Amino acid sequence: MPLIRFFAKQDKHLRRFKQFPKGHLALVAGVSAAVFLGLALIPADNASAYRIDSLFLNPPPKAGGEDVERIALTLDIPEPPRTTHLFEEDNFEPEADWHAEKVRRGDNMSKIFSRLRLSSVELDTVMKLGPDTSVLKALQPGDVVEVSRDDEGKLEALRYAVSSSATLVVTRTGEEFIAEQETRPVETRMGFGCGVIESSLFGAGLQAGLADAQIMKLADIFEYDIDFHQEIQNGDSFCVVFEERYVNGEKVENGPILAAEFINQGLRYSAVRYTDQAGDTSYYAGNGLALKKAFLRAPLKFTRISSDFNPRRKHPILNKIRAHKGTDYSAPQGTPIYAPSNGVVKFVGKQNGFGNLLILQHGQRYSTKYGHVSRFAKGLRNGQKVKQGDVVAYVGATGLATAPHLHYEFLVDGVHKNSRTVELPKAEPIPNRERSRFFASTKPLVAQLELRRKFVLAQNGQAAGSIMPRSE
Ligand SMILES: [Zn+2]
Repeated sequence: MPLIRFFAKQDKHLRRFKQFPKGHLALVAGVSAAVFLGLALIPADNASAYRIDSLFLNPPPKAGGEDVERIALTLDIPEPPRTTHLFEEDNFEPEADWHAEKVRRGDNMSKIFSRLRLSSVELDTVMKLGPDTSVLKALQPGDVVEVSRDDEGKLEALRYAVSSSATLVVTRTGEEFIAEQETRPVETRMGFGCGVIESSLFGAGLQAGLADAQIMKLADIFEYDIDFHQEIQNGDSFCVVFEERYVNGEKVENGPILAAEFINQGLRYSAVRYTDQAGDTSYYAGNGLALKKAFLRAPLKFTRISSDFNPRRKHPILNKIRAHKGTDYSAPQGTPIYAPSNGVVKFVGKQNGFGNLLILQHGQRYSTKYGHVSRFAKGLRNGQKVKQGDVVAYVGATGLATAPHLHYEFLVDGVHKNSRTVELPKAEPIPNRERSRFFASTKPLVAQLELRRKFVLAQNGQAAGSIMPRSE
């Protein structure tokens, strides 16, 4: 019985809670947990995506009797309250005199003070307290400034959340004010997302409760091994373990992806994040091979292959058999093109049917060509060095092209090869001096990933087919 659809809803609540005065946070945490547990009972209506929250981690969730309980309790969960009166209605006493003022577009402290009929002399005093209160000069629309007034309407205290874990507190002492920063400990938890692709990686990722940036990152991690343009199929699946940061029980942000696996066409790829003794962080396969390789498989992201490498292709414009010595990536005009490897610019300019053409040389043996581009990276010139991942040009339709696309050629020792299948230089293994430290620190992550996947499998027999067979 999957139990996972709730997560988007829960996030929405967390966002709303953020607007409450900080004094309520303890209450919020309690209610949030209650709401969360309630929502956890709502059955998923889409069995292909999972978001398993850390609350179920410790101890690990058990299949069996516990699930039977859950099923019995479904469906009657009322919509959670939608107003900020939540606490009053639940007989929680709100802190009496705090007023929360939302910062509007074009606002500043003096506008806020005049709106709240607070004295500008008091504001002056507060602003002169030093560096602590200077953050009040950089208010953003949507921020909340809280004030408390005495019976005569004089400023008693002021609060402002500087970050998710720090609050500026200004308090009156006689005719003076003092400013302090209250910090709250940031708690790190592990979050999980597992999904099966039904139409797109993004669709499955969102259903699994991952944020856009996390889905992009997931694709980045595996971009050396999986061609996300062409090789992703329905039934492919993934699991991600990532850091989540909490303050007072409230999730404030996602941290990095700690471990991930991607099952693509029955092949299993795994990744763990490791920071070596020199402080460099990178992703490695579970066996310690670096995922980062000398070449990216494709020089651009999330596009479609419109024409493959083909020695006997009928040319769409010339209408005769002519070898297609590259791969065409169909992409919107202006899509960035990345250097797939470190190299040197060999040619940048116009060349016949290629239109605007760029050629990069990578070491002695490899070179790559980019045809039809709309423009080159600013200032790009012959002899310039580029690094893997640098933007070198933008997709266009210059030269002999019917629509915006990148014509990408890959040459080894001067011979055209299929960029999608050519054997690329091997990855570096983790150095010997790092091995034991690497395995000690990544083993728990791999174990978590395993646990998640097993849980997902137990929840959804349908996913089992796409995850077998394993290979590594
Ligand atoms: Zn082409």
